[in-house]
Amino acid sequence: MTLLSASVSRSRRTALTALCILAFLCISCGAGKGNRLREASMRRECRANMNALATDQALYRLNNGVWARRMEDLDELANRDEPLACPECGRTYELEITSEGYAISCPMDKHGRIETGIASWREGVVDAER
Ligand SMILES: [Zn+2]
Repeated sequence: MTLLSASVSRSRRTALTALCILAFLCISCGAGKGNRLREASMRRECRANMNALATDQALYRLNNGVWARRMEDLDELANRDEPLACPECGRTYELEITSEGYAISCPMDKHGRIETGIASWREGVVDAER
């Protein structure tokens, strides 16, 4: 009788441990998913900002015949009080003039760049990892 109850309590303990592990896995998996969603939303926002800047750059060129050399010129054109910034690090975008035109890049170098209207990520796939 005691042998039986001991084995029952052991199996109950094992079940409880398994349940705890399962719960832990579910919680950590859910947290991972939340992080990934947050990452994707920041990537999307960062790329939307760079798209906006590229559009401003095209407008600036149309108006002035040259690419804007300073971010302030684009902010002025778009009537922005605050310069656009990467949502993840909060820093403003880098703008450089290249031999082909211009390059606008994420200050973290994480969400890609746009070189003279061509994005480093696949066209229309703002969410993609690369
Ligand atoms: Zn970014």
